[in-house]
Amino acid sequence: MYRGAQMAKSLFNPGFECCFCQEAIGAEDEAQAVVLSATNLSDWRIELEEAREQQLFAHMACLMENWKGRMSFEAGALVNSG
Ligand SMILES: [Zn+2]
Repeated sequence: MYRGAQMAKSLFNPGFECCFCQEAIGAEDEAQAVVLSATNLSDWRIELEEAREQQLFAHMACLMENWKGRMSFEAGALVNSG
């Protein structure tokens, strides 16, 4: 985890809510949940140090249920199996 994320987590401890189902992501769910990062593409392309970005949280099951893209998504590499 990068330092900014650790600092934000310790300062605000907002709890995590799934961006799809709006249910809380409890500590017991964290091994089956993900953080999604959205970064402004033009900021990212020029590697802007202060790129505009937002992080969203989701249960992996909700992400997979709502995944409509043709791009392959390697869910198994991101969460614990079983
Ligand atoms: Zn969810």
